[in-house]
Amino acid sequence: MTSTMHTAWDRDSILVGGDWIPVPDGTDVHDPATESVIGRSASAGPTHVDAAVAAAGSAGATWGARTPEQRAEALDNLCTELRARRQLLVDTTVAEVGAPVSVAEDAHIDLGIEILESYARLARDLPFREQLDHSLVLRRPAGVVACITPWNYPFYQLAAKVGAALAAGCTTVVKPAELTPLSTYLFADAALAAGLPPGVVNLVPGSGRTVGAALAGHPGVDVVSFTGSTAVGRGVAHAAAESLKRACLELGGKSASVVLGDAPLHRAVTATVDAAMLNSGQTCSAWTRLLVPRARYEEAVALAADHADTLRVGDPWDRATQLGPVISAAQRRSIAETVDAAIAGGARLAAGGTGLPDGLERGHYLRPTVIADVGPHDPVVREEIFGPVLVVLPHDGDEDAVRLANDSDYGLGGAVWSADPERALGVAARMDTGQVDVNGAAFNPEAPFGGWKSSGLGRELGRAGVEEFTELTAVQR
Ligand code: NAD
Repeated sequence: MTSTMHTAWDRDSILVGGDWIPVPDGTDVHDPATESVIGRSASAGPTHVDAAVAAAGSAGATWGARTPEQRAEALDNLCTELRARRQLLVDTTVAEVGAPVSVAEDAHIDLGIEILESYARLARDLPFREQLDHSLVLRRPAGVVACITPWNYPFYQLAAKVGAALAAGCTTVVKPAELTPLSTYLFADAALAAGLPPGVVNLVPGSGRTVGAALAGHPGVDVVSFTGSTAVGRGVAHAAAESLKRACLELGGKSASVVLGDAPLHRAVTATVDAAMLNSGQTCSAWTRLLVPRARYEEAVALAADHADTLRVGDPWDRATQLGPVISAAQRRSIAETVDAAIAGGARLAAGGTGLPDGLERGHYLRPTVIADVGPHDPVVREEIFGPVLVVLPHDGDEDAVRLANDSDYGLGGAVWSADPERALGVAARMDTGQVDVNGAAFNPEAPFGGWKSSGLGRELGRAGVEEFTELTAVQR
């Protein structure tokens, strides 16, 4: 890595009201592939949170008064500045997340910028004023949005939140995950370079317990938009309830990929393995339960295992790599414990396992793992593992597949595979989950994204994502 990059990764300040303010405390940032320190981030405290919220509140009056077209132009400028930093953003994502370079390019950075472009379009197109008989319904900015993001897709998650907030006319205070704050700094640099007014984007990195909790309960915050684990999300919802602010929660998942009897098995199984392993399995909507017809169970397990074994794990800077490390030693340990417990309980390890992949001696690497012959109540089937682990379960037809898919505390993503589009839709429409992809259909950045049950509250992306950050005033005339 070059010295220029290293400067970009050593940050000792927080961004409040358009000014970078040095703070004494900081946290090292590690590369999960090498386990070495690659940079440093400032750690804010409660008084910094107060200052950032106040700056966002003051900026709200002018920013919220801008026309939707002016907000769209500002988002266009932000995209231009981010595109100019694309290589640095990709390098930063490879380094701080451990994402393979092609995954960092496509799923982290380019998709994040695409999401921001879609919010610029929506700012132009959405009806912020609608006539309803003798009422004029005004859709107005909700105020200050606290954006609390996780480490698995730090740039994408930030774009999904801040883009929607800016399109709605809100101002923001951003708190990235402690493990991956560096791409968020680059986003803040781009926001300043794009000429966003001071206070529209404020950045307060720091610990969840201090900075995150202070934001979630802060009386000056109007909406808290949180992506992270279900356990922490519950706490955020409690804190938000105290001050009666809206909480948009994007939480965990244990999504099912349902293969119906008439589906092309090879394609369905290999695509499910790829989706389960993307970003080393650290994707909230990953299809981590593969449900296949009982008559083809052994065939499906063998296909899944063979395909998992072909995936290349290793150096994320190598373009041939498909899986990098997981984020941390603690995360690796937690994944391995769940897998080892399932095997000890009688499950079959069809591929992978919890040892280091061949040829790798350091880094938080895991093998792509496929588990079979496990009961529906095993933690490996029920809990979000957030690692490269797929379980394969048999079903006894469409009704049973729907029952099994819905037999989860979560409801975030999902898939259905069938040669008959109507049959697939019939199953998809009965899955209690926020998104279902039929036969590997592409991700749609404008479709609402969010969860049922323990997967969260509210929606991100598209029109629904912008509307989360608005309030309604009905004027009768
Ligand atoms: P996490 O819940 O530990 O942390 C998420 C964020 O919340 C971090 O910025 C953290 O510092 C902050 N935080 C921690 N404690 C807090 C508190 N008491 N109050 C306020 N904020 C606090 O999650 P993580 O480990 O960073 O991310 C992994 C989890 O995120 C997984 O469960 C995954 O499914 C989920 N996730 C969900 C989505 C989605 O869209 N549904 C997307 C990505 C990740």
